[in-house]
Amino acid sequence: MPVVLEACPVCAGPQIRLLSIRKGDIRLCRCADCGIIFQNPRFEEAKYGPGQVTKHYVPRLKENGLLDAKGKPIPGKIAQRYRKVITLTRKVYAGGLIADIGCGIGLSTLALKYSGFEQVDGYDVEKQRVDFGRDVLKLDLSAEDVVTVPPEKRYSLVVLSSMLEHVPDPVAFLSMIRKNTLVPNGRIVVTVPNVLSWQFMTQGKKWENICYSHYYYFGDDSLNEVGNRAGFRRIALDRPKSGKSGLASHESYLRELLGIREINITGGIGAGFEVSGPIASPAPQLASAEAD
Ligand SMILES: [Zn+2]
Repeated sequence: MPVVLEACPVCAGPQIRLLSIRKGDIRLCRCADCGIIFQNPRFEEAKYGPGQVTKHYVPRLKENGLLDAKGKPIPGKIAQRYRKVITLTRKVYAGGLIADIGCGIGLSTLALKYSGFEQVDGYDVEKQRVDFGRDVLKLDLSAEDVVTVPPEKRYSLVVLSSMLEHVPDPVAFLSMIRKNTLVPNGRIVVTVPNVLSWQFMTQGKKWENICYSHYYYFGDDSLNEVGNRAGFRRIALDRPKSGKSGLASHESYLRELLGIREINITGGIGAGFEVSGPIASPAPQLASAEAD
């Protein structure tokens, strides 16, 4: 049963506007107060049914060349697929343990290990994915809730690779990580699809990232907003120059045209955050109702 949100799930602001973009029964709304774009109504994960890991997910990874026919990982392809996460982790890492939360079957965990980060623990709440990662990829992944991390095993870096867009309440989730998972001066690395990307602008509803499991559609500003509300501040990093020279020239054209210093129209956003202090505001209580 889809759940209708009657206020913004990030700032609790009441002014939410339905966007014209539609894909099947997926509708997107934008909050007038904080600017976040989110799925509304929201569909429960159960919509996909059990067994999707081996039936849908793994075949897709084989098609994309990340796993071979037997399901074994192909290191070069995996490093390439997760290059943004690796580059950011290299910039932000200051020693200590790393937690890769929402690691799925563990490909991002593997990519970090291939890149020389040996102390990486992978977590995912979906047990099927964790079992696949343990059985086939021989990774020591955990299906435990990361809240249970004891104080002596706190992480200095949490990696969230393409997972924040799946979380029902990202401010509460990041606050939880800040309080229960990280050391006091810990950092996070986040990658999410970019709703201000040229792909979304040109493909509209055909953009592959519009799907039931993506509750949020971040741009640079709304990602910062969510991080700030959870008590993090973005670490200033030079964004790597786009490999596609056409894209870089479009970005510089837009910068000049619109008079803004930074603009990101690449397919994904990668950011590092550090703990900034107390939480700005408590996570709002969601006003919600069952749809007909
Ligand atoms: Zn809002």
